[in-house]
Amino acid sequence: MGPPGAGKGTQAERLKADLGLAHIATGDLLREELAAGTALGREAKRHMDAGDLVPDAVVIGMVRERLKGGAGNVLFDGFPRTVPQAEALDGLLVEIGAPVDAVLLLDVPRDELARRLGGRWLCRACGRSYHEVSAPYAGEPCRAAAGAACDLYQRDDDRPEAVANRLDVYDTQTAPLVGYYEAGGRMRRIDGQGTADEVYERIQAAIRAA
Ligand code: AMP
Repeated sequence: MGPPGAGKGTQAERLKADLGLAHIATGDLLREELAAGTALGREAKRHMDAGDLVPDAVVIGMVRERLKGGAGNVLFDGFPRTVPQAEALDGLLVEIGAPVDAVLLLDVPRDELARRLGGRWLCRACGRSYHEVSAPYAGEPCRAAAGAACDLYQRDDDRPEAVANRLDVYDTQTAPLVGYYEAGGRMRRIDGQGTADEVYERIQAAIRAA
């Protein structure tokens, strides 16, 4: 999913407000582990910095933990990323009696993805994302630290070498998921080009129709 339009809040906040969905992004969960300095975070870091996938068992264990005690209706973001993760998720959802209603595939050409990732800046405190070209930071106040400006940084894995590897990893390890979900009739293809707001509207419509 693309970055939210400046001033519109984070994706998680918009999804919660518009659709009542909890947003579970495995990349965010991993970065939280990293920031907290846990063993899991340290194990994940070397894979993440190179733009490689974190081992399936680590990611699946983390999602299982997050779903413990119930999470309501959920939108997973960046998960599953391999066929074994999808199989594990199906098993987990059978256990808790909650089906996958739809799988959203955001179609974006590779060179556009490289441009989006390479120009992305995030606020360390409030998580809002900006883009050098399409949503530049214009001095908006930080939503987490009253009176302060956003504290912007670029993710290590948004560096060009890591981005190139992440896109290759997608082709070899994540693209096979298309066949997995198409076979079950759960796949919805969404045009991921256009402004963040346009793409967000398409995502919302696809979820409402699911
Ligand atoms: P993201 O924030 O979704 O771009 O994820 C950042 C990085 O976290 C990825 O490049 C992977 O190293 C790792 N990661 C996030 N989600 C997964 C996943 N489902 N499986 C394996 N690695 C993941």
